[in-house]
Amino acid sequence: VQEESGWMPIDPTKPYDPDNIFAKILRGEVPCNKVDESEHSLAFHDINPLAPVHILCIPKGQYVSWDDFSKNASPEEIADFVRFIGKVARDNEMVEQGYRLLANIGKRAGQEIPHLHVHLFGGQPLGPMLA
Ligand code: C5P
Repeated sequence: VQEESGWMPIDPTKPYDPDNIFAKILRGEVPCNKVDESEHSLAFHDINPLAPVHILCIPKGQYVSWDDFSKNASPEEIADFVRFIGKVARDNEMVEQGYRLLANIGKRAGQEIPHLHVHLFGGQPLGPMLA
């Protein structure tokens, strides 16, 4: 379904698709420019950066979205992911300058890849949201 925005969004009602591109990255079938990794999380540079620093953080578990992850992930996975994102920001010198976390969830937000990913944007003044 092509929504009016022009995005090709995911269908959040479908079960996890193990052939999505981030599942392939996690299995090592598709390369990524890795930033860091923990027991339950992986960070890599976005292939099409929208800011001087644009990193994606994903859980290693099979979660379609923040909705799925927040309901179904274990406390260990959730704690790992939250702390991991903070560490990635610190290690990449984003904290002093300010940075932005963003996750598109579902159709109308334009989520393209049906595996939860949190964007980290930094390296420049970011301006107001939804401008
Ligand atoms: O939030 P959304 O689903 O639109 O974000 C998907 C992101 O995944 C895009 O920023 C895109 O550039 C990135 N991507 C990537 N590596 C791929 C495929 C997509 O970094 N192989």
